Amino acid sequence: MHSPLVIIGSGPAGLSAAIYTSRAGLDTIVFGTKPKVAGDYEIDNYFGFEHTISGSELLARGRAQAKRFGTRITEEKVLSLHHNDSGGFHIKTENEEFDACAIILATGVGRVRPGISNLSEFEGKGVSYCVSCDGFFYKGRKVIVLGEGVYAANQGLELLAFTPDVSIVTQGKTLTMTTPFKERLRTAGIPVLEQKIDSLSGSPALSSITFADGSTQEAEGLFIAMGEASSLDFAYTLGLERSGVFLVADKEQKTNIPGVFAAGDCTGGFLQIAVAVGDGATAARSAISYIKEGCQKKS
Ligand SMILES: Cc1cc2nc3c(=O)[nH]c(=O)nc-3n(C[C@H](O)[C@H](O)[C@H](O)COP(=O)(O)OP(=O)(O)OC[C@H]3O[C@@H](n4cnc5c(N)ncnc54)[C@H](O)[C@@H]3O)c2cc1C
Repeated sequence: MHSPLVIIGSGPAGLSAAIYTSRAGLDTIVFGTKPKVAGDYEIDNYFGFEHTISGSELLARGRAQAKRFGTRITEEKVLSLHHNDSGGFHIKTENEEFDACAIILATGVGRVRPGISNLSEFEGKGVSYCVSCDGFFYKGRKVIVLGEGVYAANQGLELLAFTPDVSIVTQGKTLTMTTPFKERLRTAGIPVLEQKIDSLSGSPALSSITFADGSTQEAEGLFIAMGEASSLDFAYTLGLERSGVFLVADKEQKTNIPGVFAAGDCTGGFLQIAVAVGDGATAARSAISYIKEGCQKKS
């Protein structure tokens, strides 16, 4: 399916962007599950609400407003984001695949830390955050994907293109992946272990992992895919500039890749609703110009 604009994230930044792009007549689709703030939290500092408003009420109003202008909002997780052959982007969600000529990333900050004591020592020496970037280096080798959700399942399935020896470890978490993905793993022969990895060992690169119960297992590759795919995961596959855990965007919310805009908490700064809403509006304006100018301009 094709939609000129895909927004990843249905928090204040993503919804604010969608209001602008839909209202400008762009076919806009938003992917996103419930943002953290959409609970019974009292928001007391957002402009225009004399009395407090709950996060869930504020977000529900934003969704309704975006839908009024024609935005399609779907509660699906985006599993991967890549460049396509026509200068745009290919998006894979839990149930669908899309092509888009522009993307607004509004994923908030969500990277889950695995809690493995010496993980950083093995980054680039067996530990990776990106199957499409590094899977090739693990041809025929024994690899583990760390994660409990559909994102981990998808990473595991993608690794089969490089090696048949793939397993998934949930880091002690309960599986959250959907039944179709569990079934696909079973059919593909990818075992799932609900265990926790405590530490890594090997020299000069990863060769084994130690579980919390003291047992060990051989592993040459460990791909981190906990929770859902974050803006950082998309940054790896697209080649987006990062600063620590945040995406780098300029004052027009443009990233270093033409056609990719970023807004809200995923770009760092003052992590507040008012800022996210403003970023979303600016990203929308930039995306509207980009699409109206023909999408594939090189800047
Ligand atoms: C408990 C709490 C209370 C807060 N109180 C206040 C307050 O009183 N005032 C204030 O100004 N700010 C408050 N904040 C901060 C505020 O919520 C954030 O600054 C704001 O929500 C950022 O908006 P965002 O759209 O950038 O990101 P988020 O609101 O985090 O939204 C991110 C969206 O991206 C989606 N997403 C991420 N990855 C994927 C993926 N792979 N596929 C699909 N969707 C994805 C998520 O599901 C979510 O919809 C609070 C935050 C929390 C957690």
